[in-house]
Amino acid sequence: MQYKRILLKLSGEALMGERQYGIDPKRLSEYAEEIKIIVDKGVEVAIVIGGGNIFRGLSGENNGIDRVQGDHMGMLATVINGLALQSALEVKGIPTRLQSAIKINEVAEPFIRRRAIRHLEKGRVVIFGGGTGNPYFTTDSAAVLRAIEIEADVILKGTRVDGIYSSDPEKDKNATKFNTISFTDVLNKGLKVMDTTAFTLSQENELPIVVFDMNKKGNLLKIVSGENVGTMVNI
Ligand code: UDP
Repeated sequence: MQYKRILLKLSGEALMGERQYGIDPKRLSEYAEEIKIIVDKGVEVAIVIGGGNIFRGLSGENNGIDRVQGDHMGMLATVINGLALQSALEVKGIPTRLQSAIKINEVAEPFIRRRAIRHLEKGRVVIFGGGTGNPYFTTDSAAVLRAIEIEADVILKGTRVDGIYSSDPEKDKNATKFNTISFTDVLNKGLKVMDTTAFTLSQENELPIVVFDMNKKGNLLKIVSGENVGTMVNI
């Protein structure tokens, strides 16, 4: 395997499947299957999950909800998704632990870096819920932060598109896909990979990011096996 330890970032929206809101159990089960395949190959897997399928802080602001309050709601949404993913993985026989950045002890372990690493070494999938635990951040930032903390080899950002394009492929038919691109080129070309805070943190710590289509069966295994799937952002 190319990677020994990975941090998989899944957006909350990815869990909606064809739905407009919430969690699609079929999609959840498909993701769990993809994850199981790489766990069985001995890859250590940590996951950060978003909450956009349930609540986003910024959208709450428009509804008259205070930003910080809304962000707390968003963070709790990621814990809900984490619980759902934990359950889907355990149905398939994969041992997991859910660690939350906000204390919610009856539901999830608190985030303890050393304990998370120990779980990974024992072959358990560790799901990080609650984002960074702070308002005004995103789960992309949480993904980069946790990846650095647990010394993951790479962040795999599962999306609906199969990589980074020169322009939006859904709007521009001349858009071309990059197989690899440097952090500097992403910034110079004004491409959107993650929000600026998350992206800069990754760049500063020389943590590569692979953007790939999580909805295509087998992609996750191909990436950890060293195939060039999606787009790799590197120094
Ligand atoms: N959030 C936050 N701090 C964090 C991570 C998330 O306040 O460290 C809140 C924020 O309101 C965000 C919501 O949780 O909008 C859901 O996370 P995100 O939008 O990153 O989820 P995704 O887009 O990946 O589904």
